[in-house]
Amino acid sequence: VVTWTDLTQQPEDPIFKLLNECIADSDPSKINLSIGAYRDETGKPWVLPVVQKAKQILLSDPASNHEYFGLDGNRSFTEASARLILGQDSAAMKDKRVTHIQAVSGTGAVRLGADFLAKFRPGTVYITNPTWGNHPKIFAASHLKVVEYNYWDGKTRTIAYDTLLDNLNTAPVGSIFVLHACAHNPTGLDPTHDQWKQIASIMKERQLFPFFDCAYQGFASGDLDRDAWAVRYFVEQGFELLVAQSFSKNFGLYSERTGCLTGVFADKETTVKAHSQFCALVRCSISNAPGFGAKIVDIVLKDAALTKEWKENLKTMANRITLMREKLFEHLKKMETPGIWTHITSQIGMFSYTGLTLAQVAAIKSKFHVYMTDEGRVSMAGLNESNVKQFAEAVDWVVR
Ligand code: PMP
Repeated sequence: VVTWTDLTQQPEDPIFKLLNECIADSDPSKINLSIGAYRDETGKPWVLPVVQKAKQILLSDPASNHEYFGLDGNRSFTEASARLILGQDSAAMKDKRVTHIQAVSGTGAVRLGADFLAKFRPGTVYITNPTWGNHPKIFAASHLKVVEYNYWDGKTRTIAYDTLLDNLNTAPVGSIFVLHACAHNPTGLDPTHDQWKQIASIMKERQLFPFFDCAYQGFASGDLDRDAWAVRYFVEQGFELLVAQSFSKNFGLYSERTGCLTGVFADKETTVKAHSQFCALVRCSISNAPGFGAKIVDIVLKDAALTKEWKENLKTMANRITLMREKLFEHLKKMETPGIWTHITSQIGMFSYTGLTLAQVAAIKSKFHVYMTDEGRVSMAGLNESNVKQFAEAVDWVVR
């Protein structure tokens, strides 16, 4: 007899709950700084002009159809995706030590990687504290033990570098470390090149496995190669690793679920076997990856002129976010808002981790209709010329 005794009501996901609350708020002055989705200077979603062009090309291609791709997805797309992160002349790719498979966006790529590791290289998974809210859920769903490592120093509002190194040094040998390739979510703080080198050296010594999550390539600095530096450095150092890539943000393809899981292994034989297991995991979960977004990205990446245009579109987004950081900082400075605010401009990527407390976040939500996550994370793209001053005033009010 089915009784559903264990069927309890699952609380709403915090970030989507916040978004829904904001949508339901009828106050015209509300400011949505919740979800990490780019908005243009008028506060509207932005379809990248290069994506518009690629859509036209796709629509007018008589050979285009809706056939299945095969278990590993659109291969032209996954190959381009791997090259984007590993570099056009990747030595590992030349050596055939790299395999790639299409995934249901970044989330699906992290999950696929987690399932793969759980089956073939299990270990405790270390995620940054704080991190993207879905990380602990995904790894737990793959039945891996999840532990946090230190990342944020609330006092100085910088990376908790010393304790991070301690955590690397004391984690069980062979553990898995989830690393944010660039534009760490939510803090917007990435290790410097020297820090990455030290992290890599400890990880190598202690045989810690790097699983890079790359959801913001091009968003951190506006430069795709610069944002891929850490991943490429680890590959050059001879690590075996996984990289989960999302094209949600850098192509604005959020709901098209466009992503890729790339694995770099020590030799060709392991790579071939890993590919077969990636395919087996895809077969019993999604069977075939979604077509549209992958086709759009592929059209852009295989055409030099469109790729150039994409890079300009990326700069448009990255620059507008940088400008908003500067404006917000200027307003706070002008009002002599108590506290240190330099992290607003030193953080990179889509988010600013303000350091506001749970109580302060709640207070400005009820008084000013400003929606940011409980931990004080602000999606910078939600700010524009017409609301940045208002937001700065809300922050000023709440910290006084
Ligand atoms: N990883 C991180 C760190 C992210 O911030 C995101 C997007 N919020 C993702 C992965 C994946 O997002 P998506 O599944 O929409 O590509």
